[in-house]
Amino acid sequence: MKAAAIIVAAGRSSRMGGEIPKQFMRLGGRPLLLWSVETLKAAGLDRIVVVAAAEDAPQVSALVGPQVRLALGGATRTASVRAGLAALADTTVEAVLIHDAARPGVQSADVPALLAALVDADGAAPALPLADALKRVDLDGAVSADLSRENLMRVQTPQAFKRAAIVGAYAALAPDAAQDDDIAVARAAGARIVLVPGAQRLMKATYPEDLNMLERLLGVGSPRVGAGFDAHRFGDGDHVTLCGVRIPHEKGLIGHSDADAGWHALTDAILGALALGDIGDHFPPSDPQWRGAPSEVFLKRAVDLAKAAGARLVHVDVTLICERPKIAPHREAMRARTAEILRLPISAVSIKATTTERMGFTGREEGLAAQATATLIGRD
Ligand code: MG
Repeated sequence: MKAAAIIVAAGRSSRMGGEIPKQFMRLGGRPLLLWSVETLKAAGLDRIVVVAAAEDAPQVSALVGPQVRLALGGATRTASVRAGLAALADTTVEAVLIHDAARPGVQSADVPALLAALVDADGAAPALPLADALKRVDLDGAVSADLSRENLMRVQTPQAFKRAAIVGAYAALAPDAAQDDDIAVARAAGARIVLVPGAQRLMKATYPEDLNMLERLLGVGSPRVGAGFDAHRFGDGDHVTLCGVRIPHEKGLIGHSDADAGWHALTDAILGALALGDIGDHFPPSDPQWRGAPSEVFLKRAVDLAKAAGARLVHVDVTLICERPKIAPHREAMRARTAEILRLPISAVSIKATTTERMGFTGREEGLAAQATATLIGRD
């Protein structure tokens, strides 16, 4: 059966937040849209149409290459699919797959299963059963009804249709109608639709955290490891702060901030993985606002920068180097506090301690030092 695909990429991603429409957000080094385009190209379809918003057309055109036909999207998904179907008017394809650009997990092998299902139906789509209980809620968020999930399925894309059936269904649809998906449009015109087994990887990226989930499901992302080192001199005082934990000691640590060498080394490790300079670039010691600052501020900023770069922190390892104070009694508190700031499970936060056998500045207890590594998974 000769078939074409329409990839709808005209949405503005209001739920995703941020400046970039989600079809252009990167996953494994490629914009989301390109995942579906390249997979469907490899599936041997006769034509691929990408429906884009007019303002994105130059960017999409440059991205997808000349073999892909570009159609301009409308204000609603329904209008966009109409534009995509119109871009097939000069072909002889008998089947059309309609797919959301926000579902990068489509595989070439999904296509033959869907087309095979069209032998006995007008349309076919991948679907999964529901695992969670279903509730109806009223406007103030209270549960007003318990719904049965029996016979309910959640439906994904690509959705495949006999071309005549879907073209006829859209022709019959009121001009201002806006349906949730193409199955609804087809069924409104009396089409028979069947479902084939769906897959988690076909999930739609709707919220920012969905990209993290897709990254895991699709096994993509490049690991980046950053290293950091810091040292502070002992001076007058009655405590030190290390990895966010206040430890009574006969000396203090001298520094512009709270002199938490552990978290300074860790902040530099995260910045290093991001290739975003060092702690001094972001928090100049000459700036009075960082005088006595809790180092939590620096670490949190590094975490925010990682998030802004689309990178996910997965593991940190800190080594504290000193003769005294003894670290072991405080280590679990340090791990817990660090995990809390980094929003990591405690199993992903390692804190160790060593001495230098009384050699060097740490051995003479002139100061202490820390080194750290941070592992991040980046999308580029
Ligand atoms: Mg420091």
